[in-house]
Amino acid sequence: MNTSEIYVDHAATTALRPAAIAALERSFAFTHGNAAGHHGAARRAKNALEEAREQAAELIGAARPHDIVFTSGGTESDNLAVVGSALPSESKVIVVSSVEHKAVLEAARGLSRFGYATRLVPSDGNGVIHPEAVAGVVDGDTAVVSVMSANNETGTVEPIDEIVERVRSVNRTVPIHTDAVQYFVAKPLDVAAIGADLVSLSGHKFGGPTGVGLLSVSSSTHIEPVLVGGSQEAGRRPGTSNVAGIVAMVAAMADVESERRRFAETAGVERDAFERTLMEGDPTVTITAKDTDRLAHFSHVCIPGVLAETLLIRLDAAGVFAAAGSACQSGAVEPSHVLTAMGMPADLAQRCVRFTFGWDTRPGDGANAARRVLETVEALR
Ligand code: PLP
Repeated sequence: MNTSEIYVDHAATTALRPAAIAALERSFAFTHGNAAGHHGAARRAKNALEEAREQAAELIGAARPHDIVFTSGGTESDNLAVVGSALPSESKVIVVSSVEHKAVLEAARGLSRFGYATRLVPSDGNGVIHPEAVAGVVDGDTAVVSVMSANNETGTVEPIDEIVERVRSVNRTVPIHTDAVQYFVAKPLDVAAIGADLVSLSGHKFGGPTGVGLLSVSSSTHIEPVLVGGSQEAGRRPGTSNVAGIVAMVAAMADVESERRRFAETAGVERDAFERTLMEGDPTVTITAKDTDRLAHFSHVCIPGVLAETLLIRLDAAGVFAAAGSACQSGAVEPSHVLTAMGMPADLAQRCVRFTFGWDTRPGDGANAARRVLETVEALR
């Protein structure tokens, strides 16, 4: 990163943590063996893989190392959770929240070809999914329930413990999945305490490499593989294990756990300085989900009078790297499904930008980014 550039897109991806780089370097030296093989080099790779599995399970409070299925990232973990648990079910109804990542929504929708129906749980104006709303659409005929731990656009933290509890009071055995891809970097994660059966993580959202993630699967949950081939990951996810990537991701997970306080002091403090400076300079700005539990490194702001798309292009030129939840489709900016589900008018939703801070955010980045946003907005208006 050029020193004058400010990276405020950590929810999209993060730089590798030094611990992950060191782990990659270490493991490339001995992981040329295929972990599924039978000679000395293969055994070294297999040992590294199983050590990583043990450590990952311990770090997130999974009951057994076997509960950890390594995948290629958040998308695959989400697909495996939803499709993998729906396929063996007699039931044909999938319950998902309306603010899920597309990796969950599209996995559920894709199953409609096979006779499954999707029930969407509505969100309130802050992006919160209420436990009663989830329990209200779950019944004895639900195949799987999926509600994320925290939202990737707004940073809204969902009351996942209560959701699990309320769902269990309606259906004791339905598999419950939570996508904790954005949550894990900012909040301690204990899968046993939450009581969810399936939990997705993605390495590159917390300083690990891209292309590696995991799905935690409780012992009482049966999943069918969604990829077919070999018998790796105890038959749940075929394909040669990405041992170096997995070892590096788990090193990043350990770093996340030991550096949690520091994360709040860097990312959280800079996020707060960003919002303070922005609001002082332009009181017309609104902060999304401000009045609810939000991830400490997230700032989703709506700025009247400028389109997000235009602002982001100008900010890029000014060395501020941020993102919006809107997708540009055939020239027209479609408001994000998350903001739409929250009841935000399309006109306002097109004026919102997400700024996300991270482990390598520097002191001053928050206020400096806000000043550049204010200058850019003024020039555009
Ligand atoms: N789930 C959430 C909440 C995300 O934010 C993302 C990435 O943006 C994903 C899933 C997909 O993760 P990956 O990029 O590792 O496939």
